[in-house]
Amino acid sequence: MRLLAVLTAVLATVTLACPPPLNNMLYASNKTHSSADLIRLAVTKRWSDAVTKEGNAHQPWPREGSGKVTYIDYCFSDKNSDDDLRDIVKVAWKMWRDRIGKAGSRTGHSLSLREQEPPCPEEPYCYLQESEEFNGDWNPEFSPQTLVIESNPGSFAAAVTTTGYIPGDAQGRHRLVVNKRWIGAPDSPVRIMAHEIGHVFGLWHEHQRRDRNMWLHFDCSKLFGYDDAKKRVEADTANDYTMDQVCDDPQLCIHYGLGCDQWATRLFVDGGGKYDLTNGQPLDVESIMMYASTAGMYSTQDMTDIDNMPLVKWKNPGDNVPSRRTHDNVEIIPLPEKVSELDYAGIRHIYPWISS
Ligand SMILES: [Zn+2]
Repeated sequence: MRLLAVLTAVLATVTLACPPPLNNMLYASNKTHSSADLIRLAVTKRWSDAVTKEGNAHQPWPREGSGKVTYIDYCFSDKNSDDDLRDIVKVAWKMWRDRIGKAGSRTGHSLSLREQEPPCPEEPYCYLQESEEFNGDWNPEFSPQTLVIESNPGSFAAAVTTTGYIPGDAQGRHRLVVNKRWIGAPDSPVRIMAHEIGHVFGLWHEHQRRDRNMWLHFDCSKLFGYDDAKKRVEADTANDYTMDQVCDDPQLCIHYGLGCDQWATRLFVDGGGKYDLTNGQPLDVESIMMYASTAGMYSTQDMTDIDNMPLVKWKNPGDNVPSRRTHDNVEIIPLPEKVSELDYAGIRHIYPWISS
């Protein structure tokens, strides 16, 4: 029974993991992901800065040639990935399409996600099927920038995804990796996939905005693994970090083995505060990029009790929020079930339809 309880708690944690891409802080160190749904200004800056400044490794996806539509092409890593994820990707993209519609002047955006037709039917996947001649190399029929969608039962996290477009010519540099075993209840595989697709487009977590404390209350001590991480921090006498410092710094979160990097507001994605990720917009608690109140909590505890939840929203957000949460001043953040209006607004801003 205890083992079961521990396992479920572990799973509750791993299902949260998103970026940094492939858990590699090298990716994180010089990128500025476009941010959450409301985060357009940073993207605008990125366009203008992309060729002149270091630190803008990630950009909006480019339009190819003179086309009006911004196509993001994907392929499945291998047959197993195709079998596991094809339907989930299809329904998740439909979730987006139900909100943002088809690219064009009427919807005001240019974005389209599509499966790249394999030029060679015998080799339909991103990587060549392993045989005596091939050993899983990149399929040269696909453009190196093609988004790789991969089902990986050995992945450390439920889902990890690169954010936005990464300039260069490295094969397989855009990746969306899912461990299908861990994307089930209480969340849904389609919703998680839609969230990950949001990262592909360049969106970032709403709850990691620097101003999120105006809108939300985050209690790091409610995260699964907090007590163990605290012991590690206290045992590290070479440093003198407080848990508050750890909880607000993604790199310290990872260093001490606590999942708080998925809630931390000291973001590598905003260039240390250099980029305004909010674009002056209110926080969108309905965004597909929001974490629910139950994310990251101990599943061994009462998951309906607001006292046990890492993240809740203030009933009355603003500059003068209470110093502590009570049952009267906060509300539960539910799992987002669809793409929000402001997610759509973000897409229109990042990928505007240009008719001429
Ligand atoms: Zn995410």
